[in-house]
Amino acid sequence: MIPVINTSACIGCGRCEELCSHAFRVENGKSRLISYDACEICDCSKIVESCPVKAISLLD
Ligand code: SF4
Repeated sequence: MIPVINTSACIGCGRCEELCSHAFRVENGKSRLISYDACEICDCSKIVESCPVKAISLLD
């Protein structure tokens, strides 16, 4: 599963980067994906649930 960030909804809280700095980085008030390397073997569902504005979804 690959995480996808809705940057329009993201408020830059940094929660996703705190939980997984391998994949997420917050810059200029928005989160972006910096690597997919770990995503194939990692369960991102906790990060998806932790986003306060539901800006992260998972793609197969
Ligand atoms: S947890 Fe959600 S709102 Fe916070 S930086 Fe990540 S994507 Fe943006």
